[in-house]
Amino acid sequence: AHGEISLKDIDQVARASFPLCMQHLFNTLKEDHHLKHGGRMQLGLFLKGVGLTLDDALAFWKAEFSQKVGTERFDKEYAYGIRHNYGKEGKRTDYTPYSCQKIILSTPGVGDHHGCPYRHFSEENLRAALSKMGVSSHASDDVINKAKSRHYQLACTLTFEALHGASCDAGINHPNQYFSDSQKILN
Ligand code: SF4
Repeated sequence: AHGEISLKDIDQVARASFPLCMQHLFNTLKEDHHLKHGGRMQLGLFLKGVGLTLDDALAFWKAEFSQKVGTERFDKEYAYGIRHNYGKEGKRTDYTPYSCQKIILSTPGVGDHHGCPYRHFSEENLRAALSKMGVSSHASDDVINKAKSRHYQLACTLTFEALHGASCDAGINHPNQYFSDSQKILN
């Protein structure tokens, strides 16, 4: 569904309802004003899935990237990829947001920020990220145990439950499902 998220609310909505993989990309983009290709795809398609319009997506990415590479280079090198994700360039395929399975199986390299933090972060970085998200250290122990036993989506489900004070019986299998389940509880 479109029009569920508007640019003026995006910081607050990200903090409240984005799963950790997307919070990490979002925060890194805000700090570095840049994301490599894998991160732009994973976050960009997720944002499309939560209803960010193409015009808002262009404004959102431009506001960050232009601080690093300037507006001219943004328009020349990066705007195309965003339009492409929305099916407005190239083969005009309407690309769908990535599932957890696809994200978990991705292989981020040095300098990449995409992937699933429950799989791809060190224990130390995962603990710090959970704490920043507002997960208690007791709940974080359970999350980290699930991640260590390679139950990444269960780890994400426990995080969701800790942050929302509500159960998520279906489990988490898609970042956009995490988002919509969160919004259902919060709104
Ligand atoms: Fe993202 Fe899915 Fe990993 Fe959760 S389990 S952090 S939604 S990829």
